[in-house]
Amino acid sequence: MSAAIGAELVAADLAETELAKADLVVVGSGFFGLTVAERVASQLGKRVVVLDRRDHLGGNAYSEREPETGIEVHRYGAHLFHTSNKRVWDYANEFTAFTGYRHTVWSVFAGRVYPMPVNLGTISAYFGRVLTPDEARELIADEAKEIDSANAANLEEKAISLIGRSLYEAFIRGYTKKQWQTDPTELPAEVITRLPVRYTYDNRYFNDAYEGLPVDGYTAWLSRMADHPNIEVRLNTDFFEVRDRIPAGTPIVYTGPLDRYFGHSEGELGWRTLDFVQEVLPVGNFQGTPVMNYADEDVPYTRIHEFKHFHPERESPDDRTVIVREYSRAAGPGDEPYYPINTPEDRRKLLAYRELAAREADVLFGGRLGTYQYLDMHMAIGSALSLVDNRLTPYFTEGAP
Ligand code: UDP
Repeated sequence: MSAAIGAELVAADLAETELAKADLVVVGSGFFGLTVAERVASQLGKRVVVLDRRDHLGGNAYSEREPETGIEVHRYGAHLFHTSNKRVWDYANEFTAFTGYRHTVWSVFAGRVYPMPVNLGTISAYFGRVLTPDEARELIADEAKEIDSANAANLEEKAISLIGRSLYEAFIRGYTKKQWQTDPTELPAEVITRLPVRYTYDNRYFNDAYEGLPVDGYTAWLSRMADHPNIEVRLNTDFFEVRDRIPAGTPIVYTGPLDRYFGHSEGELGWRTLDFVQEVLPVGNFQGTPVMNYADEDVPYTRIHEFKHFHPERESPDDRTVIVREYSRAAGPGDEPYYPINTPEDRRKLLAYRELAAREADVLFGGRLGTYQYLDMHMAIGSALSLVDNRLTPYFTEGAP
């Protein structure tokens, strides 16, 4: 037997022993999975093995320092933490302090720059007039009257009912087509209600009570969540390759793609994937702001991130900067799924998968991929805390199924 094969066998045996000792197996080390693992390990005192297919923890919230500049880059796109849920905020603060960062976004359309989300600054600049809040409200109501918001059946109708056709066509239609690779009439109305519309010059992106970025980065935060003697994290480990080593009856929390769990038996759920093209540029400041959206359909990327601006409080080089262009496309085989597209066809498949999931003994599904829901980080943490309260705490303390 060659040494290499021998080493593989030892690794496999070790994994088998750890899996056999686990009280809970968590598949996926993103915020949902780590919250479940941390609570079950520290609050319930149980041994948790967390499996992740990737070579790092944290799922899509993972970040790392770009080696040449030391600038923290969110490897899977910018992650901005915000919540109005006091419990989630307090829980997050157990593992990290937050900076005072307040997210703002600008959007380029037809050679001009406008603040996003749509606010009095956007409306006044777009129509080229100085408008009072009431005048702007009246103008938009007139532009939007073709569709009644209550009856809006898809993203396009909802957006027109909220901001009128002109602003929709400028700032939403092209961007959304690029971002979702789907016509806005095929997308659910809720996607656009994520964005506020304001009749003031307040251009904060989020409305939430609490907001900030982790002072020493996402990876430090995520690592602290996993740093508990009852938690064993196994990276580079695909659940589907080791599942037969998990003793029958061991509870599993699965946060990978829902359709993959069931071998795509009900068909593939549509996901959008992202491609990131990173550059280190020899300038101190490329765009003067963290995120610039590009609304024009003929610009192939949706936005450019300039990561040093997320942490103005940190030291960073004044002659170099890191920018990342974000491109979006439908996920094919082997691509990372990021966002559920959620067409009517997807929703039909989802119902079938939900029925299968409900019948799966010992497996609980959670997180963005595991429930096919557009969850933000704070929502993933909040729903993981609820899962621990409602399902895992009774299971471990009362032996309830
Ligand atoms: N959106 C848009 N134009 C913009 C920003 C957002 O049309 O300049 C739409 C787009 O459909 C997007 C949705 O609003 O999917 C929600 O935007 P958000 O910034 O919350 O998306 P995320 O940052 O999570 O990808």
